Amino acid sequence: MPPLLSIDNLTCRYDSTDIIAGLSLKLNEGDIACLLGPSGCGKSTILRAIAGFHPASKGSISLRDQIISSENESLAPEKRPVGMVFQDYALFPHMTIAQNIGYGLNKMSRNIRNKKITEMLELVNLSDFAQRYPHELSGGQQQRVSLARAMAPEPSLILLDEPFSNLDVELRKRLSLNIRDILKSLNMTAILVTHDQQEAFAMCDHIGVIKDGTVQQWDTPYNLYHEPVNRFVANFVGQGCFIKGKQLTHVAFETELGVIEGNRAYQWPNGSHVDILVRPDDIIFNPKSSISANVISKTFAGTSTLYRLKLSSSTIVEGLFPSHQDLHIGNQINISLVADHLIAFKWSEHSSKKSI
Ligand code: ADP
Repeated sequence: MPPLLSIDNLTCRYDSTDIIAGLSLKLNEGDIACLLGPSGCGKSTILRAIAGFHPASKGSISLRDQIISSENESLAPEKRPVGMVFQDYALFPHMTIAQNIGYGLNKMSRNIRNKKITEMLELVNLSDFAQRYPHELSGGQQQRVSLARAMAPEPSLILLDEPFSNLDVELRKRLSLNIRDILKSLNMTAILVTHDQQEAFAMCDHIGVIKDGTVQQWDTPYNLYHEPVNRFVANFVGQGCFIKGKQLTHVAFETELGVIEGNRAYQWPNGSHVDILVRPDDIIFNPKSSISANVISKTFAGTSTLYRLKLSSSTIVEGLFPSHQDLHIGNQINISLVADHLIAFKWSEHSSKKSI
């Protein structure tokens, strides 16, 4: 089956500056995807281009094989089968919740329209709020109304632009899972924009990590964390640090945490100098190990505690241990590195600048 959304070599400009620079991605029907990246990298511009609010200077955007944006043509935003959910909910304050949800359904007969509104209210669990006004609802409830309004006309694609930014952390977590369930129950295809990776991990099937208007990696949350394709993705997604290593074989590297072997082959010459990605969960507490480390700080996080550990060389690594293993600052402990997904980046040849 062809992808529902296809973005090919898209370039978008503000004035004469390319903000999106030759971006390509594909999204299958029923997938929930996320654009994740630092502020200003172009995430909202991509959503605006898909919705038709920003023109394509080069390349194209297609929905179900129909080009909706290109250098020469642009389907008007209201003609695109796309629904949008905004950070500030953007509900009409003078309309009831039912009227807000019914706003985009004016071509339907009154009966069908009312049936659809009832169905949407049930879906977002707000049936008792139909006659209330937006200011009488909490932020989380208003965002569910906003989702119901976007989904009511049955668009092919829903775009969510930082939809949980105005909500507190606990509510964000609950609402993101709740909205994922609602979208999945209707097999809706959606793209979420966020700078919060926990939200992206919890909600999305695929994530595109964006930097300077290009996709660095388009992958599952698991692969982004365990198999980042470059240093930027490795640094941006998840916690961790790099330690120096020297290549012994295609799969083994000598490091100050011992010789480590991964499950992926690197074709560089033996003796190559590399940086190896160490995630906090790759470090284990191991009294039998000869590698010692000094606890220099700790961050309690409920079920686990994140420790910063200084090795004898002064390199600092992070270790995530179950919180019942309560260590103290200044403790000398023994650790091992266990990293099946061993990710190495080779140093460039001519300088201390690292290659991507
Ligand atoms: P993000 O959503 O990732 O934070 P945006 O897509 O909003 O990023 O913005 C990408 C870049 O485009 C930023 O450098 C921003 O300053 C610039 N930009 C956004 N809107 C405009 C505009 N209307 N005019 C000029 N530059 C803009």
